[in-house]
Amino acid sequence: MAKVLLNFNLHIDLTSSQYPISPAKNKASRKPEPRIKRHNSSSSTTFRNKRNIQKVEDSISSVNTLLSYVNSGSLEPALQLFDTMTKPNTFVWNVIIRGLVDSGMFLEAIEFYYQMQIEGIKPDNFTFPFVIKACAGVFRLNEGRNVHSTVIKLGFDVDIYVCNALIMMYAKCGCIEDAEKLFGCMSVKDLVSWNSMISGYVLSGDGLSSLNWIKKMQKSGLKPDKFSYVSVLGACAIEQYLSTGKEIFCQVLRNGLELDSMIQSSVINMFGKCNEVDYAESFFNGIEKKNLVVWNAMIGAYALNDKSFESFACLEKMRNEDDDVAPDAITLINLLPSVLRLGDLLRGKAIHGYAIRKGYLCHLTLETALVDMYGKCGSLKLAECVFFHMKDKNLVSWNAMISAYVQNLKNIKAITSFRNLPKDRCVPDEMTFTSVLAAYTEVALPKEGKQIHCHIIKSGFSFITSVSNALIHMYAKCGDLESAKKIFDTMLFKDIISWNTIIMGSAIHGLGSYCLTLFDEMRNKGYKPNESTFVSILSACSISGFVDQGWKYFDLMKSDYSLDPGIEHYGCMLDLLGREGNFDLAKSFIEKMPLKPNARIWGSLLAASRHHKNIEFAEMAAKNIFSLDNDDNNIGCYVLLSNIYAEFGRWDDVERVRRLMKKRGLVKTTGISVVECNGKVYRFKNYDKLHKESNVTYTVLDILTRKIGEDGYFCGLTKFKPLDLVKTRLNSPVCHSVRLAICFGLISTSIGEPVVIRKNVRICEDCHIAAKMVSRVTGREIVVGDSKMYHRFKDGQCSCGDYW
Ligand SMILES: [Zn+2]
Ligand SMILES: [Zn+2]
Repeated sequence: MAKVLLNFNLHIDLTSSQYPISPAKNKASRKPEPRIKRHNSSSSTTFRNKRNIQKVEDSISSVNTLLSYVNSGSLEPALQLFDTMTKPNTFVWNVIIRGLVDSGMFLEAIEFYYQMQIEGIKPDNFTFPFVIKACAGVFRLNEGRNVHSTVIKLGFDVDIYVCNALIMMYAKCGCIEDAEKLFGCMSVKDLVSWNSMISGYVLSGDGLSSLNWIKKMQKSGLKPDKFSYVSVLGACAIEQYLSTGKEIFCQVLRNGLELDSMIQSSVINMFGKCNEVDYAESFFNGIEKKNLVVWNAMIGAYALNDKSFESFACLEKMRNEDDDVAPDAITLINLLPSVLRLGDLLRGKAIHGYAIRKGYLCHLTLETALVDMYGKCGSLKLAECVFFHMKDKNLVSWNAMISAYVQNLKNIKAITSFRNLPKDRCVPDEMTFTSVLAAYTEVALPKEGKQIHCHIIKSGFSFITSVSNALIHMYAKCGDLESAKKIFDTMLFKDIISWNTIIMGSAIHGLGSYCLTLFDEMRNKGYKPNESTFVSILSACSISGFVDQGWKYFDLMKSDYSLDPGIEHYGCMLDLLGREGNFDLAKSFIEKMPLKPNARIWGSLLAASRHHKNIEFAEMAAKNIFSLDNDDNNIGCYVLLSNIYAEFGRWDDVERVRRLMKKRGLVKTTGISVVECNGKVYRFKNYDKLHKESNVTYTVLDILTRKIGEDGYFCGLTKFKPLDLVKTRLNSPVCHSVRLAICFGLISTSIGEPVVIRKNVRICEDCHIAAKMVSRVTGREIVVGDSKMYHRFKDGQCSCGDYW
């Protein structure tokens, strides 16, 4: 067994345990002040003191009473009686620990386990299975390993019950390899040992291995029981093996096993996950006496198969048919995907309210599902409210919160939460990295991006396709296309998303021809382009101004791949028409579109109108934008229109647009430009004076503005009302955030290095002209990534060819 000990990386020293009895307290003074209220309710003294005061002999009768309390599930009186006992022996401690575990009070059970040892009572082979189950219950892997080390120290590692519990614990905590190692070292194995492995694989999401293990078990001469079948039905559900699932169900019938609710719900779940909701339904309808577990399985099967209304109807039916059956936490968890699909926040809140009334919170999985639901329904405040009130959080709950932040565009909060993970002793997984990378993608610069990349490499997730895809996207958007390409080229397994991402990444950097090469390469390698591929390739054509190719791919989409163009595809084509200034064609293109034009379409026409100074089309686009319902996405259009009016000196119209924005409650996004110097990130707002290096920055700005002025730059002051012109230059685009960032970047980075800036809104025309000129007079390359694409300013030219 010595070998096992080495393999398990154990911490024998009990005092070094990481278990947070009460986080604020010193670990050494592990006084039992369990989280359960029962001790505090009667008196504030700890139960050790109490025990010294009340000298009640632990008679056989009191032990028997304790046992009967625990067996009947009356934990409160059991704990009170336990408090009065003078010297509880191992048996008594075991009874109380078992009681706690049976009532789901896992943390308290672990606490009692430590307390018994502090009081000099040695745990035995009856203590361990329960305390290990407790560790598994709260996914405390380190705690579990600690207990395992004590098991070995006390020589209980030959006890089959203890080993079975350990296997289950490792499997539940996601360490199936450790479970397998332990299984391999067991000299005697029983059905429970095998079942623990078979269900362990299901828990870790590996249905195939689970199915292989049941075959191995049968070969070893053991006959599967109900628990084995429940597990392998779960395995078939994971792998969506419908025929194997049916075969297993037949085996259950052949072996004459009773069709109890566990088997019934597993069969419904298997059909549901295999997208055979009709099978599930007819099986369900054939069940005479349905209990809650079976109802829950059916509700879940509907919800999984996009049958949201059916799942709610099933809930209603359950409540009407059987007064004894009331929804529990699992019912609610199963219903939440339906809420999401319907986008029905009210129903979601009703479920939340029901959970509170019925006392189903704290329920880790339910709370996590609520965080997820609120996040996806756009109620970030409520998601936070649930999350911050959670007594315990695991990685899944953190992942739900981080992705809620990302979905609601609170990227900085997502990154902060990610950094706080270690405080809750959570180790990020691929889900975490994919979410947090999306947050970095929106706000980070190359160096920050590299740091998170290092973290991913160290954590061993860099080989996972979804993570690599997120990395490619992040690097491309952060302005470091080279690193994005490097990851793409060295990826072990590329999927269609990898190709779409690298094409889109290259497109926003203006590498149109490279995108077309990538597209051909992708098709030659047998990948089938999808809608997103065409968005990427059409964006590439539009950004690079490849008119003919644009039409070619637009037609190819329908002819070769039977894909119907969506609004984004039409938008790209309109960008191309607009770039050419072919307004009549653009107009008829919009009229012939089979889809209702939205802000994307009219915004594209508006941008073209600004570029070609066509006020007539600008107004037509504007009229249509104003008539759209969801104004939130159109703020950019309002701003653009107001700028166009300003360029034409139509100040009354500028004022009209401004009033309209105010009336509709539209707030202009604050333009922020970010630049990275010496590993630190600096953010600038328009007219920013708060910056530490503000003085130097403004001095450089003055010098550069004068210098480019000599070169013929004239600040586009036409964009300002005549009245504003007399005001200080604070209102002029000279002090736009991007220029402050450029100046700061120029003085803070070494010569030869490009100045890379990210901006959350589109760069204005005036700054675009100025940036081109600054690149010439300083001889430096300036890269500005705005909300649409990257502009590379070099020697007085921009990579975008002045169309964006
Ligand atoms: Zn500007
Ligand atoms: Zn440009």
